[in-house]
Amino acid sequence: MADRPSLRERLASVRQRFRKARRKKDDTKPHSERRGKLTRLVRFLRERKDRLVQRLRRRRAAPKINTNPGEPHWGGSGDLMAQVIEPFMVKRGLPIGSGKRTPAYNAQIGGSPTSDHLTTKTTTMARDFPTFSGADDAHALAASLGFGGWSQNTYTAFNYTWQGVAFRVQILWGSAIGHGDHVHVGVSRA
Ligand SMILES: [Zn+2]
Repeated sequence: MADRPSLRERLASVRQRFRKARRKKDDTKPHSERRGKLTRLVRFLRERKDRLVQRLRRRRAAPKINTNPGEPHWGGSGDLMAQVIEPFMVKRGLPIGSGKRTPAYNAQIGGSPTSDHLTTKTTTMARDFPTFSGADDAHALAASLGFGGWSQNTYTAFNYTWQGVAFRVQILWGSAIGHGDHVHVGVSRA
């Protein structure tokens, strides 16, 4: 059985027919019956084209998880980070800081030897968001993920299910725990 044409292919074909019909309409005498028919066809094709564009946009925006370990999905933790957490923090104006680190580099900068940042942990992802005033951002992220009991200066991890996959999420902020210059977000598979 032949494959059904993809949305993209259908859109390309509708676009082509739309342009052709519009050109024909413009070349036809005004007030003629043929021109009236072509006007209706152009309108019909334009609506069809717009609907296909909307469907393509919705499909692109739909969250996608891949639970393969290691780069770039990190067991799905990387997808949760890239599609939910990073856009939320970037929208709040925070820059994207350090992500995955080799054990050597992690040790060099004094990172925790069990950090979610480590490339040797293949189903975790961690991201730092540099800021000197991150309490509100950390709190807002916690609230958006439904972590009611979040507070600064603690290492509490929260359960979070995304796309049917269970995760543990840690949001660290507070100078008492060495996080006064960036919000750290760690994600691991539960
Ligand atoms: Zn960190």
